[in-house]
Amino acid sequence: MSAQPAGQKLYEGKAKILYTTDDPNILLTRFKDDATAFNAQKRGSIIGKGEMNCAISTHLFQMLEGQGVKTHFIDRPSANEMRVKSVQIVPLEVVVRNIAAGSLCQQTGIELGTVLPQPLVEFYYKNDALGDPLLTPDRLLLMALATPAQVSYLQTMALQINRILTDFFDHCGITLVDFKLEFGLMPDGTLLLADEISPDTCRLWNQAETDPDRRVMDKDRFRRDLGAVEDAYRQVLERVLAQSVQL
Ligand code: UDP
Repeated sequence: MSAQPAGQKLYEGKAKILYTTDDPNILLTRFKDDATAFNAQKRGSIIGKGEMNCAISTHLFQMLEGQGVKTHFIDRPSANEMRVKSVQIVPLEVVVRNIAAGSLCQQTGIELGTVLPQPLVEFYYKNDALGDPLLTPDRLLLMALATPAQVSYLQTMALQINRILTDFFDHCGITLVDFKLEFGLMPDGTLLLADEISPDTCRLWNQAETDPDRRVMDKDRFRRDLGAVEDAYRQVLERVLAQSVQL
């Protein structure tokens, strides 16, 4: 149930629906239980995911705001809904990696689990039809997806957010392997952290487990049919909540 009547549906994505509200500067995001992977070739549902991801994202956005990171987050009017500032989403997926996994391993041959000498920031073009390709900085500028100043700001923000999140998750007994960020432009040109930060968009490994499959606490459990997906998301939520109380 929604805490407030949603306005018009603006956009429905794979994991969230965006609605207008009475205030043109504010949008309502409803988090769904639907899960997709491999550019929506694999589809399913993770029961309770909408509420869990909304709660996890809320706590992480609030924690980041507390440490000086500007985000689109306003509040959470109901369990699976977030009110956010209306921004123009920059069509880039900014990925930060601390440990090799996923496409980095597939494309470079670097072994899964290799600790990177320093965090790697990558830009992908948010375009389903093209399969979200990895961009070189020059291609990004060629396509005018961002200005040089914006690229450098995104890089700095991504690394700052990585430092804060890595430290936070470490206190939760979780290793932040990699994650994806999206940013949005305010009418005055300010860039805000947008979208969500959740087990759908991060690779999270349980530090109490050494087994490469058992340690997975994120969407890889769904992608790779590892089972107990809901339990893993619930564990992340419980640890994030416990750690947020201590802050
Ligand atoms: N990611 C995401 N959305 C995407 C692609 C990637 O949230 O459309 C996240 C993914 O969950 C992982 C990180 O970005 O935490 C790096 O993903 P990778 O490039 O390894 O791609 P994947 O293995 O997911 O295809």
